[in-house]
Amino acid sequence: MKEELIKRFTTYAKIDTQSNEDSKTTPSTSGQFDLLHVLVEELKEIGMEDVALDENGYLMATLPANTDKEIPTIGFLAHVDTATDFTGKNVNPQIVENFDGNDLTLNEKLNIVLSAKEFPELPSYKGQTLITTDGTTLLGADDKAGITEIMTAMNYLIQHPEIEHGRIRVAFTPDEEIGRGPHKFDVERFDATYAYTMDGGPLGELQYESFNAAAAKVTFKGSSVHPGTAKNKMINASKLATEFIGKFPEQEAPEHTEGHEGFYHLISIHGEVEKTQVYYIIRDHDRESFEARKATLEKYVNEMKEKYGVENVELELTDQYYNMREKIEPVMEIVDIASEAMKNLDIKPIIEPIRGGTDGSQLSFMGLPTPNIFAGGENFHGKFEYVSVESMEKAAKVIIEICRLFAKK
Ligand SMILES: [Zn+2]
Repeated sequence: MKEELIKRFTTYAKIDTQSNEDSKTTPSTSGQFDLLHVLVEELKEIGMEDVALDENGYLMATLPANTDKEIPTIGFLAHVDTATDFTGKNVNPQIVENFDGNDLTLNEKLNIVLSAKEFPELPSYKGQTLITTDGTTLLGADDKAGITEIMTAMNYLIQHPEIEHGRIRVAFTPDEEIGRGPHKFDVERFDATYAYTMDGGPLGELQYESFNAAAAKVTFKGSSVHPGTAKNKMINASKLATEFIGKFPEQEAPEHTEGHEGFYHLISIHGEVEKTQVYYIIRDHDRESFEARKATLEKYVNEMKEKYGVENVELELTDQYYNMREKIEPVMEIVDIASEAMKNLDIKPIIEPIRGGTDGSQLSFMGLPTPNIFAGGENFHGKFEYVSVESMEKAAKVIIEICRLFAKK
């Protein structure tokens, strides 16, 4: 299975599928279609049925049941796009066999080194096969590792008809990294009872709890007058913005929080005297506390309105996604089966809340409960990203084992 995983992964990694937040199309970039077309051919080649790619870049396929038993249809999903934080052009995957556990030079010329000092988990991969970048791009293990694992698991099930399973659906989707993954996902067309995203990090991760998330854009309008004659006339929008920012509790920020603690995060400030825009995101696992945070932000906006005029302060506040726990807890057997599958393979499940969201956060609220399983990568979204082939192999086996366990219930 290892050779197959390496071959698939490196093929996918070389295709530039970076998404683009500024694009209005779905998928946001044409490179995602380049990979999707490769996947269409491959799904057909291994013998999947109903292989269908729609105009928005959602690719679905079916592995029919090989038993008459009543088994719910299970779905597996991975996203084709890669993060926007660092370049994904000309990815040149490096294969390190039998990793010695020491610092790993990614690029001698540029002196880019993956060091155990900075990444303490590194030595634990001793003896394994790692796939790394050449230090100049991201790797895209997020989430091409997930695609590789699903494809390899489906191929395995097709090659091993003795493993009993129900109807399995797979989907490869666009634009996860810009938060639009599920936007045009047709849950009805997918027609699965439950699904799993293969989009987590290191070995063992199993997640069914995400943040509740909202985004706020606050616009301050000022009035620019020549500074020499500005007395009692000038309103400086940038100063209004800093006054507003000063209202937020300093400790409730990403750099001061962990675990189940929520926060306000100042993403950016753009402005000058005439107009300044401030972007915040709000994150909290607890729904009540999430709503309270939104109310607090609105209160701060209203204070600014009162002081500087309603016409000079404007708020756009939108919910982005909710904690999927609410939708998954009633069908907890899907988490239990994933956990059992891992234990059967000697993998210790690491069940912790995600301090973020996944496509599953939105899909779960669209009627498809979707926890998230590890894909095996480390240091996502940058040049130090790498993935262990052994972890990918285990993830593929977890998929196979989940299918087997559902058929046994
Ligand atoms: Zn991802």
